Amino acid sequence: MRIKNWGIFAFIAGYHVLLLALLPAYISVFSWESLVLFGITWAISVFSITAGYHRLFSHNTYKAKPVYEWACLISSSLAIEASALQWSHDHRIHHSHVDTDKDPYSIKKGFWYAHIWWMFTYNDPIDERLVKDLLKNPRVMFQHNHYGLMTIAVNLLVVGIGCFFMHPIAALFAGFFMRLFAIHHCTWFINSLCHVWGARTYAKELSAVDNAILAFFTFGEGYHNYHHTMANDYRNGVRWYHFDPTKWLIWSASKLGLVSDLRWVSDVKLRQILVKKDKNLLLERICQEIDETSKELQNKLVSLSDNFEEKASALMAKVRELKNATEERRKLLEIEIRQHKMELHAMWKSWIKLTELTSARYELEHAH
Ligand SMILES: [Zn+2]
Ligand SMILES: [Zn+2]
Repeated sequence: MRIKNWGIFAFIAGYHVLLLALLPAYISVFSWESLVLFGITWAISVFSITAGYHRLFSHNTYKAKPVYEWACLISSSLAIEASALQWSHDHRIHHSHVDTDKDPYSIKKGFWYAHIWWMFTYNDPIDERLVKDLLKNPRVMFQHNHYGLMTIAVNLLVVGIGCFFMHPIAALFAGFFMRLFAIHHCTWFINSLCHVWGARTYAKELSAVDNAILAFFTFGEGYHNYHHTMANDYRNGVRWYHFDPTKWLIWSASKLGLVSDLRWVSDVKLRQILVKKDKNLLLERICQEIDETSKELQNKLVSLSDNFEEKASALMAKVRELKNATEERRKLLEIEIRQHKMELHAMWKSWIKLTELTSARYELEHAH
């Protein structure tokens, strides 16, 4: 595909070449302090994109105080990934048109296109209807209007500070080129590898995957299949053992009063959605079969999913009731809720078994 954005192409290709060219000089003046500078600026730049650009500005999964927004908007200059407005705009289109031609970084156009090439060819103007909320945010607009200046100032400052502790070439190499290379490819892997290599845990119909290795390098963003399924959740890794430092940062910031209104999907709600999705998908795939077993499986899928739905709704109604219940009623409700949860858990296990059985029989991809 033909290059349209020559400026971006020259910048990205240019710094990759300089990175290689400066490597021997960096090795000759290497110091451990330069790795510390790299580590700190890399971590800050990752958080500015994951917690700031992605989960706050693109998806509004929580609300933030101005000081927190400023911290994200200023530190994102270390990542050099365009303004928050532009980034969120493109990302919102990615979500609403994933795997289609309208997706700015569609994996259907190839791995390298999704990873890097799209930035050289995609230059659609900002559609204001998609970012109405951000256009009203004075901090986001300030960053958008002064993006170039802010980026130069922050990066000069970082390299300048580095010069006090190490050789200027080490400060420039580790505090700029190496860090930029690392943050860029980590982010780009979400658009490329995270749409190819991993498990489709929640939405089998999407190219997005969950990948724990990528989650490690991207502070949690590697749980991309879940994210595409529940983009309104401030977490990407939903299990307690999932490595998602971004959700820990947001949670900690909420305890400090810097952010609030964290949005997340409960386990019951999530399973409810999955059961509905699985049922429709499996029924659609096996409805062409006319043998006895398929009829029986169809009936089982429908009745088990109906029972699950009923039990889940009943549980949620009881949880709601709990909020205004009297002390006496409360005790009873808590027992009932525990009972419901146990029954739902058993149903969930049976559901997984049934979907696996159906998938195996009709050679479909496993549901979970
Ligand atoms: Zn997203
Ligand atoms: Zn994606």
